[in-house]
Amino acid sequence: MIPAAYAILDLDAVQHNLAVVRHYAPDAKVMAVIKANGYGHGLLRIAEALQGVDAYAVARVDEGIRLRNAGFANRIVVLEGFTYADELDAFMNYQLDTVVHSSVQLELLDKRHENNQITVWLKLDTGMNRLGFKVRELDSVYQRLSACSVIKPSIHLMTHLASADDKNDAMTLRQIRLFDEAVAKYPGQRSIANSAGILGWPAALAEWVRPGVMLYGISPFPELVGSQLDLKPVMSLHSRLIAVKPIEKGDTVGYGGSWRCEKSTLLGVVAIGYGDGYPRYASPGTPVFVNGKRVPLIGRVSMDMITVDLETQPLAKPGDPVILWGEHLPVEEIAHCAGTIPYTLVCGITQRVQIVCD
Ligand SMILES: *Cc1c(COP(=O)(O)O)cnc(C)c1O
Repeated sequence: MIPAAYAILDLDAVQHNLAVVRHYAPDAKVMAVIKANGYGHGLLRIAEALQGVDAYAVARVDEGIRLRNAGFANRIVVLEGFTYADELDAFMNYQLDTVVHSSVQLELLDKRHENNQITVWLKLDTGMNRLGFKVRELDSVYQRLSACSVIKPSIHLMTHLASADDKNDAMTLRQIRLFDEAVAKYPGQRSIANSAGILGWPAALAEWVRPGVMLYGISPFPELVGSQLDLKPVMSLHSRLIAVKPIEKGDTVGYGGSWRCEKSTLLGVVAIGYGDGYPRYASPGTPVFVNGKRVPLIGRVSMDMITVDLETQPLAKPGDPVILWGEHLPVEEIAHCAGTIPYTLVCGITQRVQIVCD
């Protein structure tokens, strides 16, 4: 039985997108970012498809533990690090690299004395104002870390770019310069660039790059779609028509009656809604691919269904295939129509959506 809503993953596209990363950053090691369940594509599945990268990065320790328990022996960097002592235990036991960004973490590390050691990525805040130490704190933090017996001697250094998706924003070069100057006297490997940094800012490449969204074939730049950067989308989202019916001029469609029919047409009901992760705020006119052609969304998105205008498809019938995003309908475009970014759409696919691999 075909499920009503399903996502098809093209795992060869993951390898293709990784090759694009290597094209832009030929000398860098690749830390593939597979947090948030591999941006909604499945943590273990994407880790598997990316065998051969130099490291995986996840946000939380439980994601790192899942990877280890599944047998992945690669370096795993946990981007948020630990907050409590028992979480630090897990880093030691599972040999996960931690990002160190706060003095609370320094205190917990200071207290530990055992034979086991972990690798630390010291994070500097160069303007994002989220995680990281200020540049003026670097010397003292570095010294304290160096004195911790549970830390491997080579301390890596990283920062995160706040506006790399805007090629005209001077902030990015300021961040890169601030970071480069701050870390100049230290040994250890460096990492600055996310996807937008890799594609747009050669000065950000350093020893390690941290591609996320581009691995899934999605453009980090709001004005471009992945195919314009030679990326291939990994996920496509599918459903089907479950009802087709004529509606008359003046009829309203959906909750709140917010959409009113200007002239009689054919209405299609598609079995997908926000309960599947289709965006609740997709505006009327958002394109939906029915039988290989675009038709506009009409009315409000509900939990299990959306409605479309089938005026251009008089022969459409229940059971006909529908694509919500994919190769011919970029998820970037759907995100734009819903006032969001494509990251949220792929991350937001729910449990109910069955994932099928090509
Ligand atoms: C999520 C994340 C990335 C990847 O960002 P993309 O925009 O998806 O490439 C890189 N570095 C850090 C610290 C992150 O949190």
